[in-house]
Amino acid sequence: MEKVISDIGIISEKEKNSETGLISKENNSGKKKKLYVESYGCQMNFSDSEIVTSILAKEGYDTTSDSTEADLILINTCSIRERAEQTVRNRLNHFNGLKKKRPELTVGVLGCMAERLKSKLLEEEKIVDLVVGPDAYRDLPNLVSQVDDGHKAVNTFLSREETYADISPVRLNSNGVTAFISIMRGCDNMCSFCVVPFTRGRERSRDPQSIVNEARDLFENGYREVTLLGQNVDSYKWSSNKEFKGKAQIEKANEQEIVNFARLLEMVANVHQDLRVRFSTSHPKDITDEVLYTMIRHENICKYIHLPVQSGNTRILEMMNRTYTRNGYINKIDAIRDILGEECGISSDMIVGFCSETEKEHKDTLSLMDYAQYDFSYMFMYSERPGTLAEKKYENDIPEEIKKKRLNEIIEKQQEISLARNKRDLKKVHKILVEGFSKRSDKHLQGRNSANKVVVFPKAAFKKGQYVNVMVNDCTTATLIGEAVN
Ligand code: SF4
Repeated sequence: MEKVISDIGIISEKEKNSETGLISKENNSGKKKKLYVESYGCQMNFSDSEIVTSILAKEGYDTTSDSTEADLILINTCSIRERAEQTVRNRLNHFNGLKKKRPELTVGVLGCMAERLKSKLLEEEKIVDLVVGPDAYRDLPNLVSQVDDGHKAVNTFLSREETYADISPVRLNSNGVTAFISIMRGCDNMCSFCVVPFTRGRERSRDPQSIVNEARDLFENGYREVTLLGQNVDSYKWSSNKEFKGKAQIEKANEQEIVNFARLLEMVANVHQDLRVRFSTSHPKDITDEVLYTMIRHENICKYIHLPVQSGNTRILEMMNRTYTRNGYINKIDAIRDILGEECGISSDMIVGFCSETEKEHKDTLSLMDYAQYDFSYMFMYSERPGTLAEKKYENDIPEEIKKKRLNEIIEKQQEISLARNKRDLKKVHKILVEGFSKRSDKHLQGRNSANKVVVFPKAAFKKGQYVNVMVNDCTTATLIGEAVN
């Protein structure tokens, strides 16, 4: 029998709601406790916030989108760049005002910033009661009750096993059509500029059957697209043989026992032909032709790949410890174009102004963009991160104004290429999955084509969750515009 102690004393068994196993937690005014979650950073973090919400829902928390009525505020943080952490500190400042009015309010910091700073965050930010790393979310109920008992609580243990495979995420801010499924956690690459290996730990892949079940469950609940998530999906590897734990050992398992990313992709695609499948993020050193041929075999696997390059120059790639060269990357682009064709959407990530990058080496990134012809990209100036290999080994010596100039140059280049790529889609019919109303008009709907491009068209009688064939007859740098033809 389970009893819960909170700051208003013993709550009797009777309040336990047997069907859902949910415990109704009440605050001082006897109302159900409310949870407010704010998420920053990558899609993995947004997915984790859905896991966190599920864990606390079992503890009787209702979610609210209004922080002023929350009893528990959790910020799921990103640490990839200095600015991301500054944003969180500004938010903590804002919540400080709320806490002054309601001292019983609990404020917690989750995610990569929590993992990077650990208990130091409690010293730096007095408002913070709770610091929880990405692998410790199961411990949240215990940590919250420690805070309820008047203590500060920290758990930043990084696990080699944890995948939260048995926890059904509570979909937050969902359009009811598309959803993310995290297939693995952590990263074994050690890119010299990146904090992720330190904040999310070693790679571990989730049981493929639990992923297929989640995809089937989503399909049965009306979702029509899933995106398989991982820091590096191409190194997904799972063995049915329990003897083989951890990636290194799984390599020893025989072929039959191993589920690699291509097999997982096929398993999810076979859930239903009307369930679209996307995935992110790929890694140039690990993406295989087997994955590309699996994509060709299934119409419902979207023809789009996010393949971060970071730099177009081999010397800089070596300093970044990206483990591939400029030519090695170009070979992957060629393989994608050969096997999936020119229509396949490709996007990338690029960092300008990395330590000692010369003007000529920057030009190599621009020329690689000309070669790869990305549909869009995420582009950043190098931001030195504490504790990374680059911070230890290299000087952050490129002046800010040079970084800014180079960033503007690649943004300009990308906009030229995006527009040219979109113009290739004119006068063609694209199959669109409708996600909702266009941001600009409720007389128009929007969705994405297989290449992950946003398409806007007049609503007519169509609705969310439907597949619609749209003839594209106009475009901007970021959007295709058309008319439904079915
Ligand atoms: S692949 Fe590199 S950049 Fe990506 S999460 Fe891993 S270490 Fe970071």
